Amino acid sequence: MNRLGILGGGQLGRMIALAGYPLGVRSTVLDPSDDPCAGQVCQHIRGEFDDYRALYELAQMSDVVTYEFENVPMETALWLSERVPVFPPPRALEVSQDRLVEKTFLQSLGIPTPPFAGVESRAEFDNAIRTIGLPAVMKTRRFGYDGKGQMVLRTLADAEEAWLQLGGRPLILEGFVPFDREVSLLCVRGRDGATAFYPLVENEHREGMLYRSLAPALHTGEELTERAIEYASRILAELDYVGVLAIEWFQDGARLLVNEMAPRVHNSGHWTTEGSVTSQFENHVRAVLGWPLGSTACVGHSAMFNLIGVQPEWNTVLQQPGVHLHWYGKEPKPRRKVGHITMTAESAELRDGLAERYLAESDCVG
Ligand code: AMP
Repeated sequence: MNRLGILGGGQLGRMIALAGYPLGVRSTVLDPSDDPCAGQVCQHIRGEFDDYRALYELAQMSDVVTYEFENVPMETALWLSERVPVFPPPRALEVSQDRLVEKTFLQSLGIPTPPFAGVESRAEFDNAIRTIGLPAVMKTRRFGYDGKGQMVLRTLADAEEAWLQLGGRPLILEGFVPFDREVSLLCVRGRDGATAFYPLVENEHREGMLYRSLAPALHTGEELTERAIEYASRILAELDYVGVLAIEWFQDGARLLVNEMAPRVHNSGHWTTEGSVTSQFENHVRAVLGWPLGSTACVGHSAMFNLIGVQPEWNTVLQQPGVHLHWYGKEPKPRRKVGHITMTAESAELRDGLAERYLAESDCVG
């Protein structure tokens, strides 16, 4: 039981494969591109995600199949799951592929979300604006990521513009949450039902993309963390989940509202490679292959900065003790995540000092 198939050959697949390597895991990614960055560190089958010949080959080469992105076609996940165990379970994909299905699912479990309404027609749009009010956020139900396919509506004129741009597609209108901050919880559940949780992480987004994560998030208090874990446990149990699950929340005072969840390893968990006893990637591998989970305890205070469209000077980054560079082997392009930097120190103050020095001296921050 050590052959892992991964749908998707981007940086998440690459880091899953890298985490499996010391455990003797042989990973194979399926990806349509010629040179996916995960293909640099493990075997690569070139094929579309609905190419059944390629999927058959992947199933033949794998004891378990997982995925690194949530837009895997449902038919693919179901077809594979008839031939080889697929984790996280396909139902987790079904729930997280569609923002309306996801929020309805969370609501059914009694987990708070921003107010929301599905919008298919102009009449439903007008109605949703009346009930939810402005400001609001209009989003496409499917295939939105890094802030794509969404608009903030502050005035009725914004609403007209949003309808012109997005109207006609399946949409969701959400109340705008005046959050204090965004936090995420990385969870992992094994095939035996055992669970483990990393501490809450504080995330800062810029232009809709994750810019920086700080872990553990400060000033969360035991109650907030316990509530997040309690909500997350309901989701994990309901989905009979296996693997790493990321849940993103808006914190508004003492309230926690789920923004979205991702049934996979997550950018806001990248700090765990240096900042915790067991990284999210290793724990995902352990979970899906049916092995015991590793400790999710922090080994200090960490910061993670994404490198977006820019290539740093290796010497400038690496000359700073405690700073680690993760380069994905991709060509830098605007708004493309090409790497990240982590720094871990004994205290939040020391970590912030490292981050300040790095930001002052580096030629690019993200
Ligand atoms: P999403 O693609 O849903 O994660 O949204 C990207 C970013 O837009 C989030 O990280 C938030 O900063 C912001 N955002 C999304 N939905 C809302 C909302 N309902 N209220 C306030 N800000 C939001």
